[in-house]
Amino acid sequence: MMNPVDTNVAIVGGGIVGISIGLACLDRGLTVALYDPGDARRRASYGNAGAISRGSIFPVASPLIKNGLWQYAINRSPGLFIDYASIHRIWPWMFRFLLSSNTSAWRRAAKMLDPFVASAFAEHERLASLCGASHLLALDGWMKLFRTPESFAASQLERDILGEYDIAVDILGGADIRALEPALKRTFAAGILFPQTGHVRDPGALLEAYETLFVERGGRRLMMNVDAITNQDDGCTIEAATPMRAGKVVLAAGAWSDGIARRLGYRFPMAAERGYHRHFTVGEGPKLTRTIYDVGGAYVAAPMNQGIRILSGIELAPRDAPPRTAQLDHAVREARSTLDLGGPVENEPWVGARPSTPDGLPIIGWAPRHPNLLFAFGHGHIGLSTGPVTGQIVADLLIRRTPAIPVSGFAPDRFL
Ligand SMILES: Cc1cc2nc3c(=O)[nH]c(=O)nc-3n(C[C@H](O)[C@H](O)[C@H](O)COP(=O)(O)OP(=O)(O)OC[C@H]3O[C@@H](n4cnc5c(N)ncnc54)[C@H](O)[C@@H]3O)c2cc1C
Repeated sequence: MMNPVDTNVAIVGGGIVGISIGLACLDRGLTVALYDPGDARRRASYGNAGAISRGSIFPVASPLIKNGLWQYAINRSPGLFIDYASIHRIWPWMFRFLLSSNTSAWRRAAKMLDPFVASAFAEHERLASLCGASHLLALDGWMKLFRTPESFAASQLERDILGEYDIAVDILGGADIRALEPALKRTFAAGILFPQTGHVRDPGALLEAYETLFVERGGRRLMMNVDAITNQDDGCTIEAATPMRAGKVVLAAGAWSDGIARRLGYRFPMAAERGYHRHFTVGEGPKLTRTIYDVGGAYVAAPMNQGIRILSGIELAPRDAPPRTAQLDHAVREARSTLDLGGPVENEPWVGARPSTPDGLPIIGWAPRHPNLLFAFGHGHIGLSTGPVTGQIVADLLIRRTPAIPVSGFAPDRFL
């Protein structure tokens, strides 16, 4: 006889991925319980750059990595810092990352990510309109800025591939850039404007609005950690302060997911790609109107409700290691040479971890040895954008419907 379940679906993790899955499951008439300890600031979904870009179809593992390999290896690039004290934990990720850093793997990944990101902004618009949060979204584009003609020339392959997928870009000269963003003090050699890019002006507030919608629609929110997931033939048990029997469990705990999966016998080659941000007040002059990525300065500047959010490069370090702010300090120095920034808004910078797979593709699909467990993590640099799309995919998988987007490339068993 089947044991009764307390909920059709239990979700572990309440970042943008978990909450979006919860909402999509409720839409399909399932009962849903979502476990998350509730500390919003520790989520990647809180502290990101807020970009929802149609052009984000490229993994970090690119053929261009080889050009800077030595600089990266000896920690001489502000865009990447490797914590060698923890290298023993991430070498499986690094090994596969380097194997993926070639043109054909990059092209293959772009092909899989293109349909995944195509409806990302539309999905956010739909959710935001349901919870009165549309004012947090804008379709104002973002710019990638190059300080030298050589660094712009190195982006040729990226531009070619974007063209193959009909993703609109405008190529800008120095004067065009200045005309679009008079707030920039520096003259750039060239730029790429991605006009089809959405922008979230406060990712933390957007997630809060989605959480409220989840509860209003009947979702059950449990503010606690899941200690373990145990599998039975007819469901799973969530071990937590409030335990629960669920028909299906979705593991969507971002950079914490691989640790939880490991206890069930799955070893994914994941890494925490940490990033930092801090907000700054803006001067009296012209204001930055859209997000910029200054490639030579290795920082992103995003206009947010809190001020200008300056974000640093990548730090490969354990998820909970003490903060090391040298990259952010560098980013702020470079940003100050380009933008008229006032004082910092917060006392301390924010640090958080992208759940990163070596091939830059998320892990979405049924757990190979646990028929009632589904994985949905590893969204790397595009999780804010693709959380709601992931929600649709996972909810379809749970009701045994074929998702609208091909997901075979995201299957967990590619790593196992
Ligand atoms: C600096 C930076 C800039 C970025 N910029 C962008 C961008 O511009 N655009 C974009 O699309 N993406 C961006 N990203 C990536 C994006 O933020 C992430 O991919 C996305 O937020 C991951 O969402 P998540 O829900 O998987 O994880 P998180 O948001 O990290 O949420 C995971 C949740 O799981 C919970 N959890 C952990 N363990 C347990 C447990 N045992 N039980 C219950 N709950 C648990 C955690 O408390 C947390 O709330 C950026 C990331 C960073 C760090």
